[in-house]
Amino acid sequence: MSRHRNVRGYNYDEDFEDDDMYGQSVEDDYCCISPATANQFIYSRQERHAPREEPLEEEEFEDEAVPVSPTVNHNLSPLDQAKLYSCLDHMRTVLGDAVPDSVLTQAAIKCGFDPQRALDAVLSEDTKTAPVTRSTAEEIGTVDGKLSPGTKSRDASHNKLDSEVLPKVARMTVSGKKQTMGFDVRRRLELARHNFHVLQRSVITLQFLFSTPSKGSNGDEPVTGPTPSRSSGKARQAINIKAELEKRQGGKPLLNLVVIGHVDAGKSTLMGHLLYLLGNVNKRTMHKYEQESKKAGKASFAYAWVLDETGEERDRGVTMDVGMTKFETNSKVVTLMDAPGHKDFIPNMITGAAQADVAVLVVDASRGEFEAGFEAGGQTREHALLVRSLGVTQLAVAVNKMDQVNWQQERFQEIISKLGHFLKQAGFKESDVFYIPTSGLSGENLATRSSVSQLTSWYSGLSLLEQIDAFKAPQRSVDKPFRLCVSDVFKDQGSGFCVTGKIEAGHIQTGDRILAMPPNETCTVKGITLHDEALDWAAAGDHVSLTLTGMDIIKINMGCVFCDPKEPIRVCTRFRARVLIFNIEIPITQGFPVLLHYQTVSEPATIRKLISVLHKSSGEVLKKKPKCLSKGMNAIVEIQTQRPVSLELYKDYKELGRFMLRYVGSTIAAGVVTEVMSWILWQNSPPSPV
Ligand code: GDP
Repeated sequence: MSRHRNVRGYNYDEDFEDDDMYGQSVEDDYCCISPATANQFIYSRQERHAPREEPLEEEEFEDEAVPVSPTVNHNLSPLDQAKLYSCLDHMRTVLGDAVPDSVLTQAAIKCGFDPQRALDAVLSEDTKTAPVTRSTAEEIGTVDGKLSPGTKSRDASHNKLDSEVLPKVARMTVSGKKQTMGFDVRRRLELARHNFHVLQRSVITLQFLFSTPSKGSNGDEPVTGPTPSRSSGKARQAINIKAELEKRQGGKPLLNLVVIGHVDAGKSTLMGHLLYLLGNVNKRTMHKYEQESKKAGKASFAYAWVLDETGEERDRGVTMDVGMTKFETNSKVVTLMDAPGHKDFIPNMITGAAQADVAVLVVDASRGEFEAGFEAGGQTREHALLVRSLGVTQLAVAVNKMDQVNWQQERFQEIISKLGHFLKQAGFKESDVFYIPTSGLSGENLATRSSVSQLTSWYSGLSLLEQIDAFKAPQRSVDKPFRLCVSDVFKDQGSGFCVTGKIEAGHIQTGDRILAMPPNETCTVKGITLHDEALDWAAAGDHVSLTLTGMDIIKINMGCVFCDPKEPIRVCTRFRARVLIFNIEIPITQGFPVLLHYQTVSEPATIRKLISVLHKSSGEVLKKKPKCLSKGMNAIVEIQTQRPVSLELYKDYKELGRFMLRYVGSTIAAGVVTEVMSWILWQNSPPSPV
């Protein structure tokens, strides 16, 4: 079963008129992928059983004999399939790929797609019977709360390391809470435990969502949950947000940067080394990483260890979570997100990329390696296409490991020409893509321009840091009503609880009342933390941690949106969207089960109706009520989600109005919300348009 779609031949320039959008056309003459390698990307029909019909609600289309999507396995209905994928996604969040898919699937089905029970089943079964490998043993040990034999020695060494004083560099993970950079082998254990608890909370939240009466429309406190408290006795003073923003950080604008690329391209090494050169990691710590990585027989990973924080990441030598670190350039404050390159972690990568303004794409210049990442089912194309689809327009391409190819200009040019053609097709303007020859290992062309004569003889362009500094600062929607999409929830010391996430629009001050959607509950902002620093206010673009009171933590889940209670976000289970279908092998038909991904949301859904097929450039309706959608098409569809989701029209809030659709581990379409149907009537919401 292929996990990658064929991205060949997209012309994203032409598809949507909006500059910040993307489009495509299928050009069969595009020759960067050979037919043999193309198969790696192609969405495969194999392993699928015969089609099954799912009854849909009666609609104007219903009387037509519409083909319905084939099921994948187990004769499940499309809805159950969607539940299965959602459950599997949750389980993999905790287990990674330590347990085979077949075991997870069996457990998920046996437990009625309840991720918590399914995990319990898998874990208790595993601890009883499974042969204990090093990584599974650690996982099992963590989630169970018992330590398996495999964890023992690591833990002992960890205790020793724990006692050392380490420098604190602010670091957050998109799916984990704020951390401190440093050598922390136990982090993986905590992460699994934490994920498991978040999972438990999300299950409880769901039960709660559908059983708890919403509070009254008069803005009173919810009947349940603790009473809200103000942050201090001080009255809240309205601030001039634009003036405050100009004052902050010497007026330096904030840039959210995601690092993407194929596994082993050198992303972590490159960024770890850059952080070191910038003084974000002191010499002593770096020396320690060198010693530890040497001891572990992975000396070449020393810089990567600056970013690859968890024990398992280090064991496996891959980045799994999206780590966040802050650094400064001459004119910008940069939040760096290091996204996982491994194909299993694409959903994490989407979460990271959805929050990014610009991207650094790292490719390995070594012979054969660039080709592997670019052609043979690698993540180079998929990542580039994903970030573009998620709204990133400016891209720096670090052509890395140039030391491996003797800094050859010909090799650099060869890579540029192959990538350039693809990136143009993917919707990046040539003027917004910048190529920089680098070596993450030796540090050439990272923080300063290189002095290696083999390179300077033909390259006199910017270093990576100079390029990051030169990126145009994004326009933030600070004037719009407040919106923050939750990427994590955790209990901190003291009263209340914390949520982390990026402020997509508006601003917030301590003492503000904010509304959580879909739970439809208000709470009070007791504290705001940005890059480890307590603040009185924060604004669009900031990745913050909020301490909240007046609401029960159980009601908040990843994907909830906090908003201005006076102008709340829409909550719905049905919406219309303009979608761009990627290169899938089987057509999308009515009832097709998908996973809807946007921001930190991942929600099972179905394609409820196929409304029309549009002309890729003009947007003119080419065909109404199509029977199916195939690769490269541009269409209007209606999507039905399993549970209520908070989203916005793309024209109002780009960040909360665009999404990706995934199916069996592959991204099959990208889209923008054009119409919100069946609003759920919450407090203060305008009346439903339906
Ligand atoms: P990631 O999976 O993309 O984060 O890749 P890593 O940073 O973990 O690097 C993978 C391997 O490539 C490690 O062994 C690194 O030491 C090595 N590597 C990274 N950058 C360079 C480079 O510029 N030159 C050479 N020769 N090796 C590199």
